[in-house]
Amino acid sequence: MTEFIHLPLNEQVIAQSIKDWAHKLGFAAAAIANIDLSHAEAGLSQWLAAGYHGEMDYMARHGLKRARAAELVPGTLSVITVFMPYLSGGVDPEEVLADTNRAYISRYALGRDYHKVLRNRLQELAEKITDLVGPMGYRVFVDSAPVLEVELAKQAGNGWRGKHSLLINRQYGSFFFIGELFLDVALPADPPLPKEHCGQCTACIDACPTQAIVAPYIVDARRCISYLTIELKGAIPIEFRAQIGNRVYGCDDCQLVCPWNRFAKTSPETDFVIRHGLDDVSLLTLFSWSETDFQQKMAGSPIYRIGYWAWLRNLAVGLGNASTTPEVVTALQARRDIDHEMVREHVLWALAQHGVFD
Ligand code: SF4
Ligand code: SF4
Repeated sequence: MTEFIHLPLNEQVIAQSIKDWAHKLGFAAAAIANIDLSHAEAGLSQWLAAGYHGEMDYMARHGLKRARAAELVPGTLSVITVFMPYLSGGVDPEEVLADTNRAYISRYALGRDYHKVLRNRLQELAEKITDLVGPMGYRVFVDSAPVLEVELAKQAGNGWRGKHSLLINRQYGSFFFIGELFLDVALPADPPLPKEHCGQCTACIDACPTQAIVAPYIVDARRCISYLTIELKGAIPIEFRAQIGNRVYGCDDCQLVCPWNRFAKTSPETDFVIRHGLDDVSLLTLFSWSETDFQQKMAGSPIYRIGYWAWLRNLAVGLGNASTTPEVVTALQARRDIDHEMVREHVLWALAQHGVFD
């Protein structure tokens, strides 16, 4: 009779199995991060002290816990950091940005909400690891404010921080979603890249429409169009409205000019397929949506969470920056008495841009 000898599972074998499963689950990269981010604490404190987080109080609320995985989730010994590309083809973004009558929507928001996709896959990954190592404590994070996602990904060698502050990977550029799995299992950490690859390039800093990249690697969110059109609840400061152009939900300019995005890959994920023709749609079409239209069409989209009024606010700014045509002026005039003070103020601003003051 043959006798089988069961060897204890080697950490390296577990780590490799995790990476193989992550790839099968659709992640382009998976690596294990050293959870010591103490080197990032001073920068984080300075960024918060400068007020660059704007109204995103949740960023300040977690304080230095964001750099301390084992304080954020007690017992954490390892973090698996993953990413998944999201581009899904569509009309050339430069073409849309150059046409003041069309609406530019950030490439990540053209399909279904990514949180669910990444969460479910990370959950599946956690279950597979549990099958291998036995019961363990874990927590899934996707695009989550309390986690210093880029630092963890960088630490694990999944890329480097670009001067626009986002993660860049040599094979995939930067158009991807990042997620993490915190585990109370000790695993061998992957090393950071030996070299970063921005070099002397400053294309993202030069291209930013609102000069939000105030120094290499530092973004003042209060000036960033992604913040102004997505995170900000109230009125968009007048000083930024003209520079926002036709960007009605987010902004990709710093990524579009980045040379590393020549290597960006499209995603095979069906959830990221462009919906409602959002890659090629006029400002007037979107501005004509009723609240019910917005709720029905944007259900399941990342755009849903900003709500109808912020959506109209952004579109009013876009229309204020559009070419003056009878259709644009008529659409704005139709909403000049809208029963929402903030939106009404933006509509009146937009009309003034077209020389209509009464
Ligand atoms: S997203 Fe747009 S506004 Fe924000 S830093 Fe990048 S280019 Fe500037
Ligand atoms: S545009 Fe240039 S400086 Fe900016 S992130 Fe890309 S490579 Fe780095």
